[in-house]
Amino acid sequence: MPDSIRSRPVFVLQSTAVALWHGYDVAMVDLDGVVYRGGAALASAPERLTQLRGHGLTVAFVTNNASRTPAAVAAQLRALGVDAADADVVTSAQAAARVVAGMVPAGSRVLVVGGEGLRQALLEHRLIPIASAEDDPAAVVQGFAPEVGWALLAEAAYAVAAEVPWVASNLDQTLPTERGIAPGNGTLVAAVAATSQRMPVVAGKPEPALFDETVIRVGGNCPLIVGDRLDTDVAGANRVGADSLLVLTGVTDLDRLAAATPLERPTFVSADLGGLEVPHLPPVVDGTGVTCGQWRVEVVDHELWVERGRAAEPPAERDVVDLVRAAVTAAWRHLDSNQVAVSMSTASARLHEMMQGHAGRADEGTLDE
Ligand SMILES: [Mg+2]
Repeated sequence: MPDSIRSRPVFVLQSTAVALWHGYDVAMVDLDGVVYRGGAALASAPERLTQLRGHGLTVAFVTNNASRTPAAVAAQLRALGVDAADADVVTSAQAAARVVAGMVPAGSRVLVVGGEGLRQALLEHRLIPIASAEDDPAAVVQGFAPEVGWALLAEAAYAVAAEVPWVASNLDQTLPTERGIAPGNGTLVAAVAATSQRMPVVAGKPEPALFDETVIRVGGNCPLIVGDRLDTDVAGANRVGADSLLVLTGVTDLDRLAAATPLERPTFVSADLGGLEVPHLPPVVDGTGVTCGQWRVEVVDHELWVERGRAAEPPAERDVVDLVRAAVTAAWRHLDSNQVAVSMSTASARLHEMMQGHAGRADEGTLDE
């Protein structure tokens, strides 16, 4: 794969002497699993994002979801208490429309297998959204929308069979909903691909087009890509050579992170967006263990063990980051030399306990052991 050859592999976490945000002028923040989850804002996310803007960073919300317009996404964010203007939201629909616009002349008809987000994005590029292969589309653009059904997928298959350019907003296989895991755009694209024996050009994460779109819209020279998924946010960051912060508030837990290959490893990791506000200390490797801040971890029989020192307490935010950094450093070292992922259950339990403690301090005191 030429793309993986271009990608920048990450073998170890990077460190910073000052709070992480200092190194960047734009934060490209993913939404689901980072800012909100299941329709509710994640604890402290709205305040953290405001704080980040207060430091002078541009905050862009960058989403693979193509179904809604940026205005609709921004309105949802504001309803959750997140300070967001419409122009702060960049979607894979916008990136896909720009890719299509580079392939067909302005004024062309484009078959839309998707929702309002895609239709509006095409209009911005003076492309005409249509819904039938019989109207002679010059291209097909496909992104998730709940109304996409067999009839529209059949239209896509007819048009794609005519060898016109075919662009997908993203290939996410799944879409988490309140009721469970539903088919994502990648699954619907696969139906058309299986029918036509073709594959689309892809615009969303981990492909570079959506990051390029974000730079075009919000500017910036030194972005930090913040996300919860290894295969989209982090792999995409590595592909464009940008630094990434993985937060553990979404689909990736410590066990999944411990098993990550270098192309899907983030440059930084933290429990939540609080990780932007603290230095990321260099983990110290000694023989069999790794120390970071107060934490010492050791791998014994493919299991990671955690011990906490008794010296002066670091600030709670940094303490959490230190634990995660020690654990992940030890886990990757183990994976790289043994080709076996360690079990992170002890570290996960410790982390969970600390995060509960955080939440508890805010309203009803601590939950310390
Ligand atoms: Mg996400």
